[in-house]
Amino acid sequence: MSEFNQLLVRRIRNGTVIDHIESPRALLVLNILNITGQEGNVITVALNVPSVKQKKKDIIKVENKFLEKKETDKLALIAPNATINIIKDYKLTEKRRIQLPDKIIGFFKCPNLRCITNTEEGLSSKIEIIDKKNILLKCQYCARSITTNELIK
Ligand SMILES: [Zn+2]
Repeated sequence: MSEFNQLLVRRIRNGTVIDHIESPRALLVLNILNITGQEGNVITVALNVPSVKQKKKDIIKVENKFLEKKETDKLALIAPNATINIIKDYKLTEKRRIQLPDKIIGFFKCPNLRCITNTEEGLSSKIEIIDKKNILLKCQYCARSITTNELIK
C-alpha cells in the first residue's frame, strides 16, 4: 500500500484489511461479509481511492476481526482482485488472494423467480461455479445459468 493510502486510513493494530476492491463495491463487500457495524468494532471504509494498478479502488479495514478464508472467498464474484491482509500487533502476518470456491451458499439470489430458493422460505441459494476461468455459474436447484451481473444487481 502506498504511503498516501496508509495515511488515508489509519494503521490498525489487529484486524483485516481488504485492499484492491473494485470501486465502488466496498459497501457490497461489507454486505456479503455480513458486517453491519452493529458489532461495535472500528470499521474504516474508503471509496474511490486513487490506485496505480486499478485507477480507483476501495479499501476496508475491520479492526479486531480476522476474516477467514471461507468468508472472504465469498467475495470472489464481486471483488476477484481484492487482497486480504491479516494484521496482528501492527504486523502483516498473512496476505492472501481471493480464490473462487466451488460453490457459494446463501447471500446471492437465484435470478429465476420461480426457483425453489426464491419461493421456499429459509432455503439458501446454492450457486455452483462450473467454470472458474470464464466464471460460469449455475444454480444447483433449478440448473439455470447465471451471470455475475445478475447476482450483483
Ligand atoms: Zn435457481
